[in-house]
Amino acid sequence: MMCGIVGYTGPRNAARVLIEGLKQLEYRGYDSFGLATLGNGIEWYKRAGRIGEAEKDAAGIGGKTGIGHTRWATHGIPDDCNAHPHLDCTGRIAVVHNGIIENYTELRRSLKARGHILRSETDTEVIAHLIEEHSGSNLLDAVRDTLPELTGSYAILAIRSGEEGIVAARKNSPLVIGVADGEYLAASDSTPLIDYTSRVIYLEDGDLAHLSASGVRIFHEGAEVVRPVERLGWSPEEARRGGFPHFMLKEIYEQPGAFSDTVRTVCDLPEILLGCRGLTVVACGSSYHAGLIFKYIAEEACQIPVRVDLASEYKYFMAPTRDPVIGITQSGETADTNAALQSAKVHNIPTLAITNVLGSSVTRIADETVYMRAGPEMSVAATKSFIAELAVLIRLASLLSDRSLDITLDQGHRAIEEALLTDMGEAVQMCSSASHIFYVGRGPFYPVALEGALKMKEISYIHAEGYAAGEIKHGPFALLSRETPVIAVCTPGSTHDVMIANIKEMEARSTPVIALGSGADRELDAIADILIPLPDAAPVLQPVAATVILQLLAYRTADALGRDIDKPRNLAKSVTVE
Ligand code: GLU
Repeated sequence: MMCGIVGYTGPRNAARVLIEGLKQLEYRGYDSFGLATLGNGIEWYKRAGRIGEAEKDAAGIGGKTGIGHTRWATHGIPDDCNAHPHLDCTGRIAVVHNGIIENYTELRRSLKARGHILRSETDTEVIAHLIEEHSGSNLLDAVRDTLPELTGSYAILAIRSGEEGIVAARKNSPLVIGVADGEYLAASDSTPLIDYTSRVIYLEDGDLAHLSASGVRIFHEGAEVVRPVERLGWSPEEARRGGFPHFMLKEIYEQPGAFSDTVRTVCDLPEILLGCRGLTVVACGSSYHAGLIFKYIAEEACQIPVRVDLASEYKYFMAPTRDPVIGITQSGETADTNAALQSAKVHNIPTLAITNVLGSSVTRIADETVYMRAGPEMSVAATKSFIAELAVLIRLASLLSDRSLDITLDQGHRAIEEALLTDMGEAVQMCSSASHIFYVGRGPFYPVALEGALKMKEISYIHAEGYAAGEIKHGPFALLSRETPVIAVCTPGSTHDVMIANIKEMEARSTPVIALGSGADRELDAIADILIPLPDAAPVLQPVAATVILQLLAYRTADALGRDIDKPRNLAKSVTVE
């Protein structure tokens, strides 16, 4: 989960430091922002939208200690009220939070029953009120006593009026402390710290820290601990990319978390899918491929027919069916997908949106929305949003089939991590010297082939085509030669033998073959020029793992060719015109 938090305590005007810091963090989330300082009591300022000219509005805010937040909303629309910081009933405690409090519904209910007034729709606000309840002691102890009541993920910064310093805590969300002379900062990543210091402390999960003019103290499981101070050698741009050379690679590596965060937060079957006898998916680009993978998985697991239409075609050529329509769009602003859902609505067909952006346009069009939890995606080529879409879709298939896939989904994180370790040097060499590449697969690996080819053409500019393996003989075969590598996904199961036969036919035309399959598959190993082993995971996770490997192959190939990976020519991140 993304979003940016920053804290400052030292001799300068805190609001000014925080606003500068938030600008550095804006790439992590940008639907609203806010800050609170220890000035005359708690002074605060928060707004929906981007930071822009906030300096002017926050100019009057005094205080030398403060906390700030730039939000990527997960609970509650991005408006002024839901922006962080959140305050307790007395207005003396302010909190900013990155992550998700999973048990916030129960906590809200019991806080309200005890007389608390909750002003926002966020999960975060409960933290401020819980700290208030523990406020008999100092802020550090109050936060310490609050943490065991929270389940989920968090990086938290809190301040209390009349008390010096900032209290910080982390669990499954990043938090780093900057140590300068007589001033201390805390932030989600090192970008806002770099202007002040190169000395940082990375907090560990379960750490609780206190930052004040007199220094930093860190506690873990009740005992004070010493964490090493490390030296940062990064430029601000490198720090924003977490040390990765491109956002795309960073986002590829964020996929285990994007998958499991998403699976965890999709809990109930949307009402419009209850008892449905068939489904239509509308989407564009990578999201369309995710829809196709879903078709194979859901038709098998749920025994209901799934139709997948290109959103740009659907509006003009609607099929005569009244089944619910699911529109998938990362940004929630994809014009074709939104238009397709709108035309379904005109015909009174129930609609569901799957998107990554809370409050985006698609959420106002569809009857219901399910959110993926990928965090902001900076690279134009979709990677973690695609994997998070699959997480939502497989979870929906599981919920439609008595949770038959739930156990498997829990292993997704590990399967993706394993896929990330794949060594593919030889395959990269073969691809980077090719002008044309074919990708083939059967069943769910057919759309995996489409997605692999799309990644390759988007960022390496090599002409790549995905095909259902059986279709190669119906035309494309004319193009196969020594110069056209074929990437074939061939896993154990009902299509294994026919895939082996297809690969042999290609080999007979001297076509070099890179196979993705089981590392123990002797037959495949014997005929493929290069065998890339897939992780040992359940069948339903194999398309996920294979896609991750093909993303990496495209990335490494584009990198070897020196392409502008995060901003490929002629492309835009969200396509807001039909
Ligand atoms: N879950 C919190 C919210 O929706 C924090 C989201 C974030 O990390 O920005 O406000």
